[in-house]
Amino acid sequence: MKAEAAHGHLCAGQILGVRMALLGLRRLEIEDPLGADRKRLATYVEIDRCATDAIALVTGCRLGKRTLKFLDWGKMAATFVDLASGRGVRIVALEDSRELARQLYPHIENKSRQQMIAYRELSDAQLFREQQVRVNVDAAELPGNRGERFLCPVCGEGVNFGRFVEVEGQRLCLTCARPELRYWAEDGPRPNCG
Ligand SMILES: [Zn+2]
Ligand SMILES: [Zn+2]
Repeated sequence: MKAEAAHGHLCAGQILGVRMALLGLRRLEIEDPLGADRKRLATYVEIDRCATDAIALVTGCRLGKRTLKFLDWGKMAATFVDLASGRGVRIVALEDSRELARQLYPHIENKSRQQMIAYRELSDAQLFREQQVRVNVDAAELPGNRGERFLCPVCGEGVNFGRFVEVEGQRLCLTCARPELRYWAEDGPRPNCG
């Protein structure tokens, strides 16, 4: 399985991700996401787990191509968007799929194996809830758009894609304008070697 090789192991989360992505593509009638249709699709994922790797692999959507959008919401959910029409389908894994796996294969004691087998065999309707949605994907958020590049006057770092905030008439990068966004804390100067 390609997903296994890319991800380093085979697991229930990946199988769920593959199934979600295949269902999304089918609903949007996108047949060749890695080839002829590769510019038609954007995917929003709401979790960063094993399923996310599998979804990227099946759809060909990648962070580096700006076609994979990650929202850190901790939900086993993803939205697949046809960029030509803005039509999308949001697919959420159902909470009771674990329970179903338990009921179907009570004789398999290993939980992850139980889920792996069940997630292959359960129907889409047993595994997922689907919503028809519209997604207004801003052209500036897609590949091909370079946006404006500027240098933050406070930290001196270059910023792409118009990610700045105006504070009192001055354009600042996001972490200078809103220090609470920083995921790091300054760690003092390092002693010089030698
Ligand atoms: Zn995994
Ligand atoms: Zn800055």
